[in-house]
Amino acid sequence: MMTAPPPKPTGGDEICPLCKRPKSEHTNKEMLDCSRKIREQETKDDI
Ligand SMILES: [Zn+2]
Repeated sequence: MMTAPPPKPTGGDEICPLCKRPKSEHTNKEMLDCSRKIREQETKDDI
């Protein structure tokens, strides 16, 4: 049988904790913005 396998859902679809969307749905710019804000929050906790 030469039928193509159905597309598998990617198992490691991480959800962005900032906007609660899969990281794969982010544009490059959104990804940069989100990771920067997350990092800012983490450093804020440190004070
Ligand atoms: Zn995000």
